[in-house]
Amino acid sequence: MSALPETTGRKLKLFQAADPQKRWWSLDEMRFCKKCEHLFTGHDIRVTLNEDEQVQFHCPTLHCDGKWEDWQYPNLHL
Ligand SMILES: [Zn+2]
Repeated sequence: MSALPETTGRKLKLFQAADPQKRWWSLDEMRFCKKCEHLFTGHDIRVTLNEDEQVQFHCPTLHCDGKWEDWQYPNLHL
């Protein structure tokens, strides 16, 4: 697993292509992970490439395997 060279614009495009449920206008948007119950921004989401060069997205919380479907708009929780 290698870290992807990241620029903000590239990361945002990846999010827009990969997130099945929600829109991303900016990496400053907050999401709430219902698995680890943490709030984070798009900047915090870790992006890696697997062996097949496929882009993978990871919750910023260590050992949390949250995915797009677990990351909700934070206003549901405020
Ligand atoms: Zn999480």
